[in-house]
Amino acid sequence: MNEIELTKSLINYKSITPENDGVLEFLENELTAIGFNCKRYKFTDKNTPDVDNLYAKFGNEEPNFCFGGHTDVVPIGDESAWSFDPFKGSENKGKIYGRGSSDMKSAIAAFICAAREFINSNKFKGSISMLITNDEEGPAINGTKKVLDKIYSEGEKIASCLVGEPTSPKNLGEMIKIGRRGSLMATINITGKQGHVAYPQWNLNPIEPLNKIIHELNSLKLDEGSEEFPPSNIEFVNISSSEGATNVVPNNASAQLNIRFNTDHTSEDLQKLIGEIVEKFTKNSDYKSQVDFYCTAEPFLTQRGKFTSIIKKSVDEITGLDSDLSTTGGTSDARFFKDYCEVVEFGLVGKSAHQIDENVEIEDISKLKNIYKNILKNYFN
Ligand SMILES: [Zn+2]
Repeated sequence: MNEIELTKSLINYKSITPENDGVLEFLENELTAIGFNCKRYKFTDKNTPDVDNLYAKFGNEEPNFCFGGHTDVVPIGDESAWSFDPFKGSENKGKIYGRGSSDMKSAIAAFICAAREFINSNKFKGSISMLITNDEEGPAINGTKKVLDKIYSEGEKIASCLVGEPTSPKNLGEMIKIGRRGSLMATINITGKQGHVAYPQWNLNPIEPLNKIIHELNSLKLDEGSEEFPPSNIEFVNISSSEGATNVVPNNASAQLNIRFNTDHTSEDLQKLIGEIVEKFTKNSDYKSQVDFYCTAEPFLTQRGKFTSIIKKSVDEITGLDSDLSTTGGTSDARFFKDYCEVVEFGLVGKSAHQIDENVEIEDISKLKNIYKNILKNYFN
């Protein structure tokens, strides 16, 4: 199968996160036929669904170049709004339509075909591996992170990783991601004392200190940004208070915020900072406060150097463009790889990812295969 046929075959599997629907078995067969050694890892954790993962490796020598990807897709939404069957891989006017076509089944197909062509026509010292999870679009608890922990405990080592997520805003090859900001969520909860609005002397209104806390946090300038990162930003996403009539001072008030932060900070420092500000406006009073944090990703940056140069050169040689090394956008599984090896992200145009009528330019899939093959060639040279 070439990369186009392979993309269509992958779209046929209804691998809506966390269901695998046989897509990993299919990949295992394809990779085994090329000579990859395949291992499956199924992980469980309380409160999250069980997830199946695949680690496949060709060769045993170092360095080990790993492709990171996911076969799970987001739900299709309103099926009647789709112009094509979301699980058929229909071709129309130079595009393939279907859930996962852009994010990111075609990148997996492109990498498999690139690896096969490279292996069949080159002698090289090293190994090529693929870590494919079915838990990237879900909680990401039983996916890439656990596979990495497990294979490293078995003595496995990865030298460099390319995550094949869509990275190009408009045209294939415009952008390579070399880092990402971190993400921290916080819920600030203030408890006062409920009562009648006409008798403030008997109440304690939690909205007063909460308002000051929000104001102070919004006035903070966390940093100026750097050459590689935009400034970190705090965004409040929700404010609420316990229900009541219009003449009732509420008992509780809470606010939720999300911070996207660069490598000037760690989530731990930021938690401390928020805690101090909440403390400042509630101490020496009868107010009670609680702050709950949830960090989904620490920031990371792969320093510009040999690896990033190889990737950029390999991309630009095929597209003729001058690709941008960027740290913009949301998080991906690169946040887990970064604890083990150098990592960059490069894949297709992500415009239609997660949308109704998700699609990919057929021409781009073959171009991406050629780019991936060129990366392997330049990496192992
Ligand atoms: Zn994705």
